[in-house]
Amino acid sequence: MNDKKIEEVKGRQILQVQDVFFNNPLKDVYTAALPIAGCAWVDTGDGVVLIDTLIRENVAKKVYRKIKGKIKYIIYTHGHRDHVGGAAAFLADNPEIIANKYLSDRLDKYKILAAHRAHVTAVQFNFPDIKYHTNYIYPTKTFLGEMTISLGNKTFKLHTARAETDDVCWVHVPEIKTAFIGDLIIGFFPNIGNPWKPTRFALDWAKTLEEIRNLDLEYIFCSGAGIMYKGKRVYKALNANIEIIRSLHDQVVDYINQGMHVSEMIHAVKVPEHLKKNPYLKIRYSRPEFFVYNVYRWYHGYFDDNPAHLLPRPEKEVKAEIFGLIEDPNKILNRARELFDNDQSQLGLQILDVLIQADPENIEARKLRIELLSELGAQDYCLMSRNAWVYFIDKDKEFLRSKGEI
Ligand SMILES: [Zn+2]
Repeated sequence: MNDKKIEEVKGRQILQVQDVFFNNPLKDVYTAALPIAGCAWVDTGDGVVLIDTLIRENVAKKVYRKIKGKIKYIIYTHGHRDHVGGAAAFLADNPEIIANKYLSDRLDKYKILAAHRAHVTAVQFNFPDIKYHTNYIYPTKTFLGEMTISLGNKTFKLHTARAETDDVCWVHVPEIKTAFIGDLIIGFFPNIGNPWKPTRFALDWAKTLEEIRNLDLEYIFCSGAGIMYKGKRVYKALNANIEIIRSLHDQVVDYINQGMHVSEMIHAVKVPEHLKKNPYLKIRYSRPEFFVYNVYRWYHGYFDDNPAHLLPRPEKEVKAEIFGLIEDPNKILNRARELFDNDQSQLGLQILDVLIQADPENIEARKLRIELLSELGAQDYCLMSRNAWVYFIDKDKEFLRSKGEI
């Protein structure tokens, strides 16, 4: 009998937070932040330039009420919902809305994939009852390359890039030595790699941060504008992010050239020792394994050089065959439990999956899976993987409840 204590694992529900934190960190620059999203506005003496809009209209309205002066421009740093979702709250003065040329395509994509994205958001953000809205406010003016806006006593130099997304627009305001860089830095290990999303542009991301590093800056605003770095910390944050991206990217490239399987690669690629405790790179949102998958998928097709995987039969069918040879569910349950007891819960989860794929309603298997997932989740500080474990624990509990088992 297992004597391990099963910890209840809780997800992180940052999307539900409604409290907006306001700040005025330097003259003429104001910010509003939620845990995942931030926005900033700059007073020019001849109207306001708003950079990003928070995630939803209801919280964005709280920001609108704080803004003094006419909003002349809204700039989207990219099309993620937590940057464009609140735009409807800021339209009273009929501002020009400026974005990267590809941002509108992203909003179109969100509309055609609404059902899928609702599911992804439910898992990734532990938000099971999400209502996925597609009522986006599109830009009124788009561009590629560089664009300059002069307003009042400030100049806004806009630059497009491919980094977290293909529709990045970062903003440099030289008069106040400030750059607004959206999610190019998020205060943690960079968001390069998300198990549910298309690939990010790792190498271009590093090059964009290098371009920003070449500027004479006193401030950068990042993670929307929820995080600000000042003085030396500007360059420390930039250096740390550039170094980790280049290091992990180059390791993946080397391993691809060596023909390593991606399931080995995610364990072989290492964060350099001197960056492991770097305060700018804590594993809180994404994680190195997701980064590896990301770069691998960018450079590599789906085929892993195993002829059994070129045109495979459905996974369920294959595992049902294997289970047919094993015959006894207890053999699988016992081995999976042994692995759990030996702190090899990931391997246990994959072994148990043979039984669950062959017999999804096996009560003992679903109970054991909750234990395995709880162990994986308990030590996991990455928001995305932690929330995934929690989502599937909740699904298993829901199933057991429906059978009167808990
Ligand atoms: Zn983003």
